[in-house]
Amino acid sequence: MAAEADLGGKPGGWRIVFLGPPNSGKGTQAVRLAADLKVPPISTGEMLRAAVAAGTPLGLRVEGVLATGELVGDELMAEVVVDRLGQGDARRGFILDGYPRTPAQAETLAQILAGQQAVLDAVLLVEAPEEVLVKRALGRGREDDREEIIRERLRVYHEKTAPLVGFYEAAGLLRRIDGDRTMDEVGRQIRQSLEVGKG
Ligand code: AMP
Repeated sequence: MAAEADLGGKPGGWRIVFLGPPNSGKGTQAVRLAADLKVPPISTGEMLRAAVAAGTPLGLRVEGVLATGELVGDELMAEVVVDRLGQGDARRGFILDGYPRTPAQAETLAQILAGQQAVLDAVLLVEAPEEVLVKRALGRGREDDREEIIRERLRVYHEKTAPLVGFYEAAGLLRRIDGDRTMDEVGRQIRQSLEVGKG
């Protein structure tokens, strides 16, 4: 028996949401965890950036919004997510990164899952101090990461997304993860948080 439990063996697959401010490192962790749990990582930000890069109708609609750090509208995001979570691979579980981001989106996700007779297993909140987040963003230097946009994305997070913390905490799903550590340490915390309360 390996020292670390094989989290990949859960019957029915894992359904996990990553929550947290931009540059908390949750995107990287989501991809790693998805590989461990053998479910697809689904990043709505990545999907939108890919649509912009490919010049699809969706990309043309969201391009301007992405450039400002604001959120794409809930209704358009619902179309994107209903479509993606309805695909075969996601029916067997998923790691969501960047969705839901508003209370209305959390409601949409709950409806999608109810329609699939599925439930969320956990919501992982990855946090780090604001100066750490800004420093990381500037270091990474993606095109939309100029400092004023970074600050704007943080403001939007606090205004629109942070209310979901209380919502998922009340549902008993929230696991708090300290994102101000090395990637490996954060990954270990995540695995531990998922083993807690496991059968
Ligand atoms: P991310 O990579 O998750 O930080 O997303 C990059 C950008 O895509 C965000 O700043 C938003 O403009 C847009 N976006 C991604 N996911 C969502 C979502 N769930 N709701 C609204 N906008 C989103």
